[in-house]
Amino acid sequence: MAHVKLHIPGPVEVSPKTFQALCNPMIGHRGQGFKDLYARIQPQLQTLLGTNQLVYLSTSSAWGVMEGAIRNLVSKKVLNCMCGAFSDKWLDVSRRCGKEADGVQVEWGSPIRAEAIDQKLSTGQFDAITLIHNETSTGTMSPLAEIAALKVKYPDVMFIVDAVSSMTAVPIGFDTLGIDVLLAGTQKAFALPPGLSVFTCSPAALSKAATLKDRGYYFDFVEFQKNAEQHMTPSTPSIPHIYALGSKLDEFFAEGLENRYSRHRHTNQQLRDWATRHGFTLFPEAGYESLTLCCVNNGAKPVAGARVVDASKLQKLVKDRGFLIDGGYGKIKGTTFRLSNMGDETPETMNALIAELDQAMALL
Ligand SMILES: *Cc1c(COP(=O)(O)O)cnc(C)c1O
Repeated sequence: MAHVKLHIPGPVEVSPKTFQALCNPMIGHRGQGFKDLYARIQPQLQTLLGTNQLVYLSTSSAWGVMEGAIRNLVSKKVLNCMCGAFSDKWLDVSRRCGKEADGVQVEWGSPIRAEAIDQKLSTGQFDAITLIHNETSTGTMSPLAEIAALKVKYPDVMFIVDAVSSMTAVPIGFDTLGIDVLLAGTQKAFALPPGLSVFTCSPAALSKAATLKDRGYYFDFVEFQKNAEQHMTPSTPSIPHIYALGSKLDEFFAEGLENRYSRHRHTNQQLRDWATRHGFTLFPEAGYESLTLCCVNNGAKPVAGARVVDASKLQKLVKDRGFLIDGGYGKIKGTTFRLSNMGDETPETMNALIAELDQAMALL
């Protein structure tokens, strides 16, 4: 199969080194070898997530843990903060879990603001909220610190945060934020193949979970804690992924987290500059643009004089040149398109993409 390099916002390009790490010899998940592996990466994961809590490994994509958070932590009613395809879906998932749920919906491309959540929580109806930090479908980042600050006012409400497409690319300090669950799938900014998620829980979340009867088994947070204390997972994990995660974490710390964050800021700016140079505007509300992808406005928000192209044609032209970009998600497919700078991308690799994008634009 000819290699088409991924610049879609997940899964992202996986390096040969990471693929190599997947190929370590298999070991038993209850043996010392596995415990040593998990114990070795645990402090790195804790530093990455900014927590003293144990970080859990879930052999599932992010939705497993997102659904698990609902089943573990919602007894009264959950407030789902909705600003795009993934966050909107969480309301539906909450209801499918048989929970009382309500949404606070903003227009796609707008962030979730603390005031809107505050207003809803003040009704006293809710015991949990879900928030997507970086809504990947619209390329919009919500102000997490501002929202997490509400926790002081509502200490009994569980704050569940999806950082699927921002974790490792921007700093997110779990303990400092004071939230209750932080989760990510690893096929986004971690640049691993799909199939593994990482998450952590506050002591309050673990206590709350212990009181809920219908939390199931595979995503039972109490089981994750009990097992993690012994450097294990509740069920057989994808051990190859965990080897690869270990390899990736070594890379993160060799680069330095601050350098990694500034690299993502820089490569993201390259995409924004490219879009501006070609007369496009960005889809997200100004000031809330994602740092891990660029969601280009291609007519979804009419702006006088702004460039609009045939997004599927652009996508095809770029693909013929060996790069896959995203043609827009859900109801904004075609009227936006998305370019990812997540993972291992550098100024040089972004320039290679940008050169092909420039050539394709000349043909439109
Ligand atoms: C990709 C993504 C998900 C869903 O991840 P799956 O791997 O499909 O489970 C959830 N939230 C965000 C913000 C995402 O970008």
